[in-house]
Amino acid sequence: MLEGCTPPGGELAAAYRANGYWRGENLSALLRSWSRQYDGKTALVHGTTRLTYRALDAWVDRLAAGFRAHGVAPGDRVVVQLPNAPEFPAVCFALFRLGAVPVFSLTSHRASEIRHLLEVSGAAAYVLPARYRGFDHLGLGLALREELDCLRHLFVLGEVPEGCGAVPLDAVDAEPVELPEPDPSDVAFFLLSGGTTALPKLIPRTHDDYAYQTRTAAAVNGLTSQDVYLAALPVEFNFTWGCPGVIGTLGCGGTVVIADGPTADDCFKLIEEEGVTFTSLVPTVAQLWLETAEWSSYGLQTLRTVQIGGAPLSPELAARIGPGLGVRLQQVFGMAEGLLSFTRADDPEEAVLTTQGRPISPGDEVRIVGEDGTELPLGATGELHTRGPYTLRGYYRAEEHNRTAFTADGYYRTGDLARLTAEGRLVIEGRIKDVIVRGGDKISASEVEGHLLTHPAVSRAAVIGVPDEYLGERICAFVVADGEPPGLPGLKQALQERGLADYKLPDRLELVEEFPLTGLGKVDKKALAAGLAAAAAH
Ligand code: AMP
Repeated sequence: MLEGCTPPGGELAAAYRANGYWRGENLSALLRSWSRQYDGKTALVHGTTRLTYRALDAWVDRLAAGFRAHGVAPGDRVVVQLPNAPEFPAVCFALFRLGAVPVFSLTSHRASEIRHLLEVSGAAAYVLPARYRGFDHLGLGLALREELDCLRHLFVLGEVPEGCGAVPLDAVDAEPVELPEPDPSDVAFFLLSGGTTALPKLIPRTHDDYAYQTRTAAAVNGLTSQDVYLAALPVEFNFTWGCPGVIGTLGCGGTVVIADGPTADDCFKLIEEEGVTFTSLVPTVAQLWLETAEWSSYGLQTLRTVQIGGAPLSPELAARIGPGLGVRLQQVFGMAEGLLSFTRADDPEEAVLTTQGRPISPGDEVRIVGEDGTELPLGATGELHTRGPYTLRGYYRAEEHNRTAFTADGYYRTGDLARLTAEGRLVIEGRIKDVIVRGGDKISASEVEGHLLTHPAVSRAAVIGVPDEYLGERICAFVVADGEPPGLPGLKQALQERGLADYKLPDRLELVEEFPLTGLGKVDKKALAAGLAAAAAH
């Protein structure tokens, strides 16, 4: 087990094995067995690239040997920041095969986030695009390699200038070599928390737990080798990667079509051309798809199921999705930390429109807990706590945070407010964690506040989400100025210069003289939000 990770409890781990949840499989060996089983069938499609299972597995072999030859060793952490492209799954599976551990980063991450991920994981390597959507990732990578002792290798998708010491991904290629099999109970990769702390926490996902999650999500949805999954959202999201997503589809011998992004026009074209049968979207994107579907001439007849998750879905929008896209809606409540809850194909319509369904595994344990930590009666709203065969038991290298993020008996405190219906379905009612959900992106308020406070014109800062018709929420920064009040453009620019990802920049600035305080002397964010709502109503 990688140092710094909390192993799951002994008795529960034994039960997960005895129940067949953890089968002692590693993700690299699984790809190998899928390749043997599905062989010449198409595994991945992206643009003009089409890869069979056999070709994908062979590419992964050569990449793994290439990474090894370039000095990446088993156990090394590797930050992977790649756009939606076949290189993403190929690089990740190659690192699994090698026993190195990818740390999934978003392409929108900038210096602030990448430096943090490299440092906290002690990454030996960083896989990045040379340039993507106008940003010079290679420039950032080269600067960080100078700055951080741990970072030895840069592997780059795209053009690399001679002599800079970075290795183009094309050159990560060697004759396959025998590599020791990774331990199924070991960490396969790290996902990122969209959590409350100033910077993202690393979520260790083991081979066994992720193999189980993807297999179970696929089985709940009845996936077969005839299914074609469209990866429209970023492929590094847990939702796209494994709910059942890319891995679940490959595990059934289906085909994964990778879109460059979720734009309706591009995705509709892919759905028609490739006969896509299912996809996963956040509510904001679903709304845009509905608008486009009204006039688009692309045929979406093959599309059977659209999963919607990652952010609250209003019953009104939920009701439009089935008829508007000619599909079955599936609500998904999930988290990179583990627990997934799906509505099912045979659920009554009312349940599909108004609940987030049932946990996917009989091994998932959920509790609804009151402020005093005791379990609430059925139907009451409280904080959702969960434990199960694919839910983490501790963030990586975060001992102090773990003491409060988990209960003594190993339940994860999700920070989400939920209730259970009599039929055992979850209804997500809100959240107590200080996170803004903008589109599908999670923004930690305290992270943005920390950056704002470094600005000379900011004396105090409080960041909240304000309701927004399109994005669900937008970021509003309340600021008590120090001297000359700052303006929104100047603040945004200052945060960008500090290397903060664009999606975390405030959309709105409210200058105030002072903050309302709670009885405990903390900033009363509810009062700030209520003040804005009252002002908007006038
Ligand atoms: P992430 O780990 O980035 O996928 O974020 C997980 C969080 O997103 C959850 O803890 C919830 O706060 C939120 N979330 C995910 N799915 C839903 C949903 N269907 N409805 C409301 N919130 C959701």
